[in-house]
Amino acid sequence: MMGIATINPATGQTLKVFEPLTAEEIATKLEVAQQAFEQYRTIPMTQRSEWLNQTAEILVRDREQFGAILTLEMGKPLASAIAEVEKCALVCRYYADNAADFLADVSVATDANESFIRYQPLGAILAVMPWNFPFWQVFRFAAPALMAGNVGLLKHASNVPQCALAIEEIFRQAGFPTGVFQTLLVGADKVAGIVADPRVKAATLTGSEAAGASLAAAAGQNLKKTVMELGGSDPFIVLESADLEVAATTAVTARMLNNGQSCIAAKRFILVDAIADRFEQQLTDRFSRLKVGDPMVPETDVGPLATPSILQDLDRQVKACIDKGAKAIVGGKPLADRPGNFYPPTILSHIPPGTPADEEEFFGPVALIFRVPDLDAAIHLANSTALGLGASAWTKVPSERDRLIDELEAGAVFINGMTKSDPRLPFGGIKRSGYGRELGSQGIHEFVNIKTVWTK
Ligand code: NAP
Repeated sequence: MMGIATINPATGQTLKVFEPLTAEEIATKLEVAQQAFEQYRTIPMTQRSEWLNQTAEILVRDREQFGAILTLEMGKPLASAIAEVEKCALVCRYYADNAADFLADVSVATDANESFIRYQPLGAILAVMPWNFPFWQVFRFAAPALMAGNVGLLKHASNVPQCALAIEEIFRQAGFPTGVFQTLLVGADKVAGIVADPRVKAATLTGSEAAGASLAAAAGQNLKKTVMELGGSDPFIVLESADLEVAATTAVTARMLNNGQSCIAAKRFILVDAIADRFEQQLTDRFSRLKVGDPMVPETDVGPLATPSILQDLDRQVKACIDKGAKAIVGGKPLADRPGNFYPPTILSHIPPGTPADEEEFFGPVALIFRVPDLDAAIHLANSTALGLGASAWTKVPSERDRLIDELEAGAVFINGMTKSDPRLPFGGIKRSGYGRELGSQGIHEFVNIKTVWTK
C-alpha cells in the first residue's frame, strides 16, 4: 500500500503524509458514530435540511479554496475542480428540498384499518470512495444519507486525504452534530474489519471492480447491504444521420473530462462505416489542439493522471493494442519530457480483436475507435463487454433511437448528448459495473428500512 499522502501528480512531489488511524482510534470513531446516530435520528427533517443548505452555502462560498485542494491532490484542471465543488452544492440543495417528499409515509389500501410504508434510517453507513471526483462522489452519497437520518463514515482514497478532511470540516461548520459525518484515514486493508463491525449497518463503494468485489464479499459475510458503483467502458455510437460536428465536439469533452479518468467517460467510439472516416478526422483535429500541462493554469485542457500506477496501466493497455496491430493516430505513449504523470490525448484506430480494448476500462485520455457496418453491429459491439454503466448514441432517426434505448445494456442511455450525472436522475450500472443507484429519489431509498405498518 502506498500510504496516505498528498503527492502532486503534476510534479511527483510528496507534499504531506498522514498517519493512518490505529485500531483503537477506529473503534472510538465507530462508537462516536453509533452514539451520534441515536440522537441524530430524532432530529426533524426541517433541521437536517437547514444544515444541508448551509453545507451548500459553504461549498459555494469557498469553492476556489476547495477546488485548489482537489487539483493539488489529483490533478484535474482547476476550473473543473471548482465546477465539481459547485455541483456538490446542487446535490445538497436537491436533497434538502426533496427528501421529505421522497421519505413521506406511503398509504396502501389493504384489509387493515390503516396500512402504510414508513422509511426509517439504518445507522452508520460506510462509504469507500475514489479519488477521481473526490468531492462529488462523497457528497452524492452523504446528502441523501444524512437527510434520511443515517450517519456517514468516509474511507476516502489514500491519495486525497486533504479532500477527505476538508469534507468532514464542511459538515461540521454547517452545523451537523459531532459524529454525524466522520472521515476515517485508513488504508484499504482496514475496510473489511470496519464493515464487519456491528455498529456499521451498510456500505457503498465507488471504485474498481476488484475493490467492489472485495467489499461486497466482506459485507456479504456479515449480511449487510451494499451499493456498488464500479467501472465503465461506455460506448459512444455515431450513426449516419448524426450531426457530426456536434458529436465530435461533444466526444472530446466526453472522453477528456477529468483528464480521461471518469467512470462514465466515452471510452469506445463505435462508428458506422458511412461516417467513420469523417468522424475520425474531426476527432483527430480536435484532439491535436488540446493543451496538456499544469492543471493550475487556465489554458490547460488535460492535466496529469492522478498516480504513477494509472499511467503505467494505461501505457500497458495502449502498448498491447499497438503490438497487436492497432494504429495510434495521435499520441500513444507517456510524455517522458517532464516530471509528473502526463499522458497525451490519444486515438487508437483499427484495433483488432484480442486486445485489452475488448474488455478493460481505459482510465485516461485514450479514445478507442471501432468501425461497424450498421446499427445491429453497433449494438452488438456496444454490449460485448462485461461492463454496463452508461452509453451515448447519436442519431436523428426515431426508430434507431428506440432500438438503442431498448437494447443497450447500460444503467443509462443518452441520445444525442454525453453521459453525465444529474442530482435529479438515478445513476448506476448493471453487469460488472455494479448495482444499486445513487441520486434521484431512488438514491435516498437505498439505505433506509422500508417499514411496513399494519394497524387494526
Ligand atoms: P480503487 O482502487 O478501487 O479505489 C477506490 C476506493 O476503494 C479507494 O478508497 C480505495 O482505497 C478502496 N479500495 C481499494 N481496494 C480495496 C479493497 N480491496 N477493499 C476495500 N476498499 C478498497 O479505484 P480507483 O482506481 O481509485 O478509482 C477508479 C475506478 O473507480 C474506476 O474503475 C472508475 O470507473 C470507478 N468509478 C466509478 C464510478 C461510478 O459511479 N460507477 C464513479 C467514479 C469512479 P485506497 O485508495 O486506500 O486503495
